[in-house]
Amino acid sequence: MITVTKTYLPPFEEYTIQLKRAWDKAWITNNGILVTELEAKLKEYLDVKHLLFCTNGTIVLQMALKVLDITKEVITTPFSYVATTNAILWERCKPVFVDINKDDFCIDSAKIESSITENTQAILATHVYGYPCNTDAIEKIALRHNLKVIYDGAHAFGALYKNKQLLSYGDISTCSFHATKLFHTGEGGCIITNNDEIAEQLSLFRSFGHIGDKYYSMGINGKNSEFHAAMGLCNLPRLPEIISNRKQVSEWYDNLLMNSTITRPTSLDGTNYNYAYYPVVFKSEEQLLLVKKKLEENDIYSRRYFYPSLNKLPFIENPVTCATSENISNKILCLPLYDSLKLEEVESICKVILSTI
Ligand SMILES: *Cc1c(COP(=O)(O)O)cnc(C)c1O
Repeated sequence: MITVTKTYLPPFEEYTIQLKRAWDKAWITNNGILVTELEAKLKEYLDVKHLLFCTNGTIVLQMALKVLDITKEVITTPFSYVATTNAILWERCKPVFVDINKDDFCIDSAKIESSITENTQAILATHVYGYPCNTDAIEKIALRHNLKVIYDGAHAFGALYKNKQLLSYGDISTCSFHATKLFHTGEGGCIITNNDEIAEQLSLFRSFGHIGDKYYSMGINGKNSEFHAAMGLCNLPRLPEIISNRKQVSEWYDNLLMNSTITRPTSLDGTNYNYAYYPVVFKSEEQLLLVKKKLEENDIYSRRYFYPSLNKLPFIENPVTCATSENISNKILCLPLYDSLKLEEVESICKVILSTI
C-alpha cells in the first residue's frame, strides 16, 4: 500500500531520550524545558522575533484574528484547507472570497482591491502547497487600505521567498505541525510575529489571559505539551535531509510525467521550495476520478486536496463564484509524497497514471 503521506518518525530511542528530560522533572506541560527549547530553536531556524508553540494550526488562526481585533470582513482564498475559512467563521467574521491565480493557485492579488469595502479589516491568505503568495503586492494593498495581513503558512515551513523565510511575512504568520505536515510535532502549530505588543498579547491568550494571580485579558488554552515538543526537537535537525529527500521524489515525478498532458503549478521567481506537496492537474474531473480509481485498484492512495473550493462549502451564506479556484479544485490531485518513498514506487504510480490518461 502507498499512502498519500507518511508521518516522519525519528528513531524511537531518540524520542525517549527527549521524553526522559521531562520525566525527570515530572513537568509535562505549561512551558516546560522542551517547549521552551523548541521555541528557541524554531525562532533561530526561521529567523523571527517571536514564535509561540501552540496546540494546532487552527487555534493559531483564531488567535491571530482575535489579537488583531478583526470582527468584520476578511478577504481570503477559496483554495486552502477548510480550517482557513472555519477560523474566520468561528471568530464570527465574514469570509470574502477572492479568486486564485492560475499559476501558483494562491490568492490573485490583482483581484483583491475590487473586493475591499468599508468593512474590510484583514487579508487572510494561504501559501498554498508552500508556494508564496505575492507578498509584495499584498503588503502594498494592505498599507493603502489600512488592513492587517495574516498568512496561513500551514504548508510553508522551511520554504524561502526572496531569501527570507516565507513564515516571516505579514503582520502574523501561522503554521501547523500536524503529523501530516512537512515538519511535525504530532499535533501542534505556531504563531509568528515580529511585533512585541502582539506577541505579548498572544502569549496571554495562549494561557487563559492570566499570569499567576494577575488576570489581564480574555484568553484560551493554546498551550502544547512536552510530549509534542519532544517530537519537534527530534525532527527539526532532520529537516534539511527530509526536504532534500522529498525534492528527489518530486524530481522523479517530474521526469516520469514530463511528456504527459498533466500540468503543474508554477511558483513566483525567488521561491526556494520546501517540497511539501506534489499536486498535479488533469484535463478534466472525469480524468481525475478515473486516475484516482485506478490508483486505488493498485493500492495507491492520492488525495483530492483541495476540494471543494471553499466558496462552495454548504454553510457559506450568499456564495460567490470563484471560477479559477472551482476549476482547479475539480481537477487537482496530490500524489503520494514523503521522505522514504522509493523510485520503484514512484515509477509504479506514474505507470498507472500514464496508462490511464
Ligand atoms: C493543516 C492545515 C491547517 C490546520 O492545521 P491543524 O494543525 O491540523 O489544526 C490550517 N490551514 C491549512 C492550509 C492546513 O493545511
